Amino acid sequence: MSSRTIIHVDLDAFYCSVEEKRDPSLRGKAFAVGGSAEGRGVVASCSYQARAHGVRSAMSAATALRLCPPLIMLPVRMAAYREASHQVMDILRGYTELLEQISVDEAFLDVTALIGKFEPGAREDAARDLALDIQLRIQEELGLSCSVGVASNKMVAKIATDFGKAAMRGGNTPHALCLVPPGEEESFLAPLSVTALWGVGPKMAERLNTLRIGTIGQLAQWPERDLVRRFGKHGHELAQHARGIDKREIVTERESKSISSETTFARDVQDWEQLRETLVEQAESVARQLNGQGLSGTTIKVKVRWTDFSITSRQLTLTQATTHLAVIVEVAVGLLATLWASEAEAPIRLLGVGIGGLSPARQLGLFDDPVSENSAGEELVVDESAHDGPAHEEPAHQESSGAESASMPSAAESARREERQAQLRDAIQLLEARFGAQVVRVGSRLPPCED
Ligand SMILES: [Mg+2]
Repeated sequence: MSSRTIIHVDLDAFYCSVEEKRDPSLRGKAFAVGGSAEGRGVVASCSYQARAHGVRSAMSAATALRLCPPLIMLPVRMAAYREASHQVMDILRGYTELLEQISVDEAFLDVTALIGKFEPGAREDAARDLALDIQLRIQEELGLSCSVGVASNKMVAKIATDFGKAAMRGGNTPHALCLVPPGEEESFLAPLSVTALWGVGPKMAERLNTLRIGTIGQLAQWPERDLVRRFGKHGHELAQHARGIDKREIVTERESKSISSETTFARDVQDWEQLRETLVEQAESVARQLNGQGLSGTTIKVKVRWTDFSITSRQLTLTQATTHLAVIVEVAVGLLATLWASEAEAPIRLLGVGIGGLSPARQLGLFDDPVSENSAGEELVVDESAHDGPAHEEPAHQESSGAESASMPSAAESARREERQAQLRDAIQLLEARFGAQVVRVGSRLPPCED
């Protein structure tokens, strides 16, 4: 059987639903979970009554309160949401082990094998019944509502969920179910905005708009060769996605686990030194967690949230897993330098670094030679990928650091800025020289490692 069946599950106003379970008096009220109105708080989740007033997640708490003055703001209780999330994922894992959790309240399930047991003519109904059963069990056992998308691949399943949710209006919980039958992916996507596609963030949407490409259907009709000419490798991906093609497999927990550290700045930051220092602190935290859990990782990722809340990230995969702080710092700083330069050093709202591809760290054996191990160093290969995407991740809130106030640039300041830019260019050249090659050795150049 060639066609897959993928189910995407997304809890409806997840944090708020957990709060409603704890305090049923919140039911039917406009409330939100997130930071305070005084600080740089952001709405992490809002009830559908609040949405009816125009409140949205990722909006600043101050704006939300302006749009909806009676809005009740509740603090984020991440531990409670994680607990509920585990319960949801346990239910989903009861259907299949082929589960990919993509955030605290979203997951993909590959149910191809389950659906394959039915006659071809009965598979669409079987998939729908399965999706309904998932919704029912999560509702009955946990008292939580979810929306579900069903399609032949991950991208279309997720878009189906979003489409189903958007179609439900009027301040009610969506509890949507949207199924796209195999073969109808392209026609389902055609009328939707290109921004619904993975990899089309606000910047890419703008570039497509200048070509008068607004809908996915228009993108699908555009010659692929021209997209590749304009956008490189990404152009091929755009053409595939616009036709509803997405071959990505489910990535199960073992493969996808990562350790990360993020910081939301009290004020947007445009100062390289401050960004670099923050990144080093975050890398220290990541290395501590890695070593504390006896793990090593292969993929180092840097993530930036801009003032418009869009997210850009870059990652690089090493050929050999590392636990070393110095490696994480060097790669992360390099990735940030190129990422920031490519965005014209725009102000940064949130910065984060993470490491994935985790596996148990190899202990140095009694007879291993630590010197030769060191001099062999880590071999790095190029697998650097940039990703622009809508901000659908859970907001960071655990740490924050201050920033100095802005002032008129003096001559000294401009000189410093020029010097900094020169340093940045050097850093980028260094990085390109290092990671532009197929295999790069960095171990011998690194300062002593912290373990
Ligand atoms: Mg959700």
